[in-house]
Amino acid sequence: MPVLLIAAFIAGACVGSFLNVLIHRLPREESIVRPGSRCPACGRPIRPWENIPLASFLLLGGRCRGCGGKISLRYPAVEALTAAGYVLLAWADGPGMPLLRDAVFFSLLVPIAFIDIDHRIIPDELSLGGLAAGLLFSLLPGGDWMGSVLGGIVGGGILFGTAFAYEKITGREGMGGGDIKLIAMIGAFLGWKGALLTIFCSSLLGTAGGLLAMRKGEEGLKTAIPFGPYLCAAALFARFLGGVFWSFL
Ligand SMILES: [Zn+2]
Repeated sequence: MPVLLIAAFIAGACVGSFLNVLIHRLPREESIVRPGSRCPACGRPIRPWENIPLASFLLLGGRCRGCGGKISLRYPAVEALTAAGYVLLAWADGPGMPLLRDAVFFSLLVPIAFIDIDHRIIPDELSLGGLAAGLLFSLLPGGDWMGSVLGGIVGGGILFGTAFAYEKITGREGMGGGDIKLIAMIGAFLGWKGALLTIFCSSLLGTAGGLLAMRKGEEGLKTAIPFGPYLCAAALFARFLGGVFWSFL
């Protein structure tokens, strides 16, 4: 078991490093393979040894070798978050297909949340690509393809219905299409119960976040914070504590 957890940590840190590239380049529609990473301040190419997840940030003291510019804490934070997530998943799932599936799911949620915070969009490559991945995993032995299809339809359908009604009543666009595709993807991974629990928890989280933003005197409830990150956090809750939640009903 310790070997699995250490392997999960290293794999998570490396995947997190790649997720940083996705978060930076996907919304700008840049290639995710070329050119190699560069310092955003001076454009100096980052050498391979400067690109070791987590370790390089510490070795470089958080500064670019070329211009001395500060490297955003975001990069090691995403690597640490992904590494920690992978360790938790490995601990919960043990080795096997469910672990691979959950790792893919987690590796989709992280960039979706950060890109939505930065740009208020959710790239189709992640949401629709993730929907396809969730359905594919459900076709493997031990998977539940009916539950996966139903999860996508129930999740997407509820948010689509809510968005449609909101727009008809208020004349304003509330929920974006990106959120609808995201919950369809979550449903494909977690099934219809997981999708329902995710919607329920995300609306609680979203309300709490909106109230906090209002108290701080920021823009207010309407445009406070994009909804995607709440859906991502709620999906993780549903994945890990969903069983406990349903056992109380
Ligand atoms: Zn630089």
